Amino acid sequence: MCGIVGYIGKQEAYPILVKGLHRLEYRGYDSSGIALLNTAADLNIYKSKGRVADLETYCQGKDISGTIGIAHTRWATHGEPNHANAHPHYSQSEHIALIHNGIIENYVVLKESLKQKGYTFQSDTDTEVLVQLIEYIKTSDNVDISKAVQLALKQVIGAYAIALVEKGNPDLIIAARKSSPLVVGIGEDAFFLASDASPIIEYTKKVIYLDDEEIAIIHRNEQLKIISLGNIEKTPQITQLEMSLGALEKGGYAHFMLKEIFEQPRTLRDCMRGRINIDNNHIVLSGILDNKEKFLNARRILILACGTSWHAGLIGEYLFEEFCRIPVEVEYSSEFRYRHPVIYPDDVVIAISQSGETADTLAAIELAKKAGAFVYGICNVVGSSIPRNTDSGSYTHVGPEIGVASTKAFTAQVLVLIMMALCIGREKKTIPEKRFLQILSELDNIPNKIETILGLNDKIEDLSKIFTYAQNFIYLGRGYSYPVAIEGALKLKEISYIHAEGYPAAEMKHGPIALIDNEMPVVVIATNSTTYDKTISNIQEIKARKGRILAIVNKSDTKVRQMADYTIEIPETEECLDPLLSIIPLQLLSYHIAVKKGGDVDMPRNLAKSVTVE
Ligand code: GLU
Repeated sequence: MCGIVGYIGKQEAYPILVKGLHRLEYRGYDSSGIALLNTAADLNIYKSKGRVADLETYCQGKDISGTIGIAHTRWATHGEPNHANAHPHYSQSEHIALIHNGIIENYVVLKESLKQKGYTFQSDTDTEVLVQLIEYIKTSDNVDISKAVQLALKQVIGAYAIALVEKGNPDLIIAARKSSPLVVGIGEDAFFLASDASPIIEYTKKVIYLDDEEIAIIHRNEQLKIISLGNIEKTPQITQLEMSLGALEKGGYAHFMLKEIFEQPRTLRDCMRGRINIDNNHIVLSGILDNKEKFLNARRILILACGTSWHAGLIGEYLFEEFCRIPVEVEYSSEFRYRHPVIYPDDVVIAISQSGETADTLAAIELAKKAGAFVYGICNVVGSSIPRNTDSGSYTHVGPEIGVASTKAFTAQVLVLIMMALCIGREKKTIPEKRFLQILSELDNIPNKIETILGLNDKIEDLSKIFTYAQNFIYLGRGYSYPVAIEGALKLKEISYIHAEGYPAAEMKHGPIALIDNEMPVVVIATNSTTYDKTISNIQEIKARKGRILAIVNKSDTKVRQMADYTIEIPETEECLDPLLSIIPLQLLSYHIAVKKGGDVDMPRNLAKSVTVE
């Protein structure tokens, strides 16, 4: 959710930390702050409501010197976004400064007990309780700061990634994590710390992903030391980063979201590379083939996800049922984990998350593992928590997705599910070979077809002008197009703040049809499919109530274009692959409507990219 950055080395820390905050701003951005230790080892904290740019303005003319510091962008969970609640938080004596990503669930109890000991609080956050607790333990138990952190964290229930510095101690940063991500970068005479690798990549490719309940003691000029909450020393496992710096820049596009929409032909090729071999008619997904028996004997597939990933999961349901004849349930991780779910040891669980850090999905995975199910992850961020906590899985390989509204991660998740369903279906012999080959060869054409759709960008931008007036939108689709409809509606909500709902087209008449009048735009995905004629009947029902129809159709379509007010033509494909194409114009439509309405497309209000709190 929020972003954490830290630096200790020979260079000035402030520019490195601020640049890091900009790289992480997509994660959370209601306020930000920085703590620096100057040459006299004095602790300076600067905080500001708003964006990182506001913090930079606030810091002008202040003492921003020092070669050690920590910084934070906040996504508020406890207390409104204001100056007092922004991180870093001071301890009572103002000797310790702490930043935190996550939620301290038992903060009320801890706060009450600290208040009784004379501690006072400046903010409404759960975070401030932790820094006070650390100071209390340090003084009352007369232990050093790292021991105090360890003892304090043992009392904490909840999720955290933290970093802290101490006045008079210019050589030490302490960091720790549980359920929220944290990465340490090892540079030349320097250490970096961040919520993900993006602020680190331009300085070093050597990183260590901290595990849950690990504390990193980062001492200038010494080897990195990692200890567990149980006081066991761990050997740091160094990972080599493969990400490039260019992947983190906008590359000439006005927004990351637009760049990421346009990257999709390439990202889908990258996702297929080495997995699909058209010449040999093969799909090689090692995560499936190495665990073939699990999939062949699966009693059921349970798909766990949140948000856009859940929409991809719904497409997975159609795919696995059609091609593998395995019953599928798609669950919101947050509901699943708290409702006494029935999980069988011969279930296969597929967890989907772009960031690989989605807190609810991680917790749902733990439940599934306890019940003995085989857990497969579909994630984008290499080395993140979900890939490290699942039995097997596939990366989507689309590179960093910075725009908060997911685009390229969604299409790659769908593509991985398509490849999985084809691979399992072939092994199970539930898909006729001829059909397998047809779909495989058509998959190869998908990136080019997306390029054709991207060529409609100007037309879609023109169309978007017509719809900026709208207060509400309805999106309709049937079969494979139904999840696309709800994903299209989500995209619009997220960035344009227009209320939008997606429905299975036939459900219209069971209620939502009451909303239709001549002001209501209705987006219908009416590409060729087994339910094409049924969709036409649903369009008639809307027409009869004077709704304004924007239809996504194929070139060969003759019927829908006569009824629709506006149409966007996309190339034809196999029905099961159509979501990869039909979502593209919907992404572009939301983008252009949001831009026309003046929204901050890459950082829409109230949202954060990676939801590491439940
Ligand atoms: N729970 C903390 C707060 O509300 C941290 C939120 C975050 O992860 O940014 O301040």
